[in-house]
Amino acid sequence: MSEYLPPLEKLIEQFRKLPGVGRKSAVRMAFSVLDLSDEAAENFSSAITDAKKQIRHCEICHNLSVDEVCPICADDTRDHTLICVVEDAKAILAFEKVRGFRGVYHVLGGVISPINGITPDKLAIADLIKRVRDGVKEVIIATNPTVEGETTATYISSLLKNTGVTVSRLAYGIPVGGDIEYADEVTLNRAIEGRRAF
Ligand code: ZN
Repeated sequence: MSEYLPPLEKLIEQFRKLPGVGRKSAVRMAFSVLDLSDEAAENFSSAITDAKKQIRHCEICHNLSVDEVCPICADDTRDHTLICVVEDAKAILAFEKVRGFRGVYHVLGGVISPINGITPDKLAIADLIKRVRDGVKEVIIATNPTVEGETTATYISSLLKNTGVTVSRLAYGIPVGGDIEYADEVTLNRAIEGRRAF
């Protein structure tokens, strides 16, 4: 039996579902929620439901969006013939901070990982191939330099081989085993400049 009252235990369990939150941290978070005013607690819970209700995936690139098409895909001043393929929407934020990239993106929604049941059909790869056939000149594959990221990059490049587009991969700058999301501006810029053709 739990040492906490059932409603509190339920709250602790919800916090434990978040990445990197262990039992101890979850208990601390749950207790701080109890310390919130009724209004603050209400704001907290409605922020969760509102975000879930209002945010969806862009129909073109699968980036997070409030509208059907995200602001990046809707921007005519960007180069829509250059697509940067990323694992998740968080990577887009990192690239946008750099401001050196004026193309558009494609969010895969993960990387190929058979051990975890993530096969190519579970990712937005087929959509990417469809987009590429529509006048795209270059695809930069910006998956993280992990084993799965490399596998995914190789797989995508093989699918794009006979389409006539230039396929490149972020080459250096990002440490192996690193995460694009946490790379600094210089590192990310160097990685874009140093991309290489497959
Ligand atoms: Zn989009």
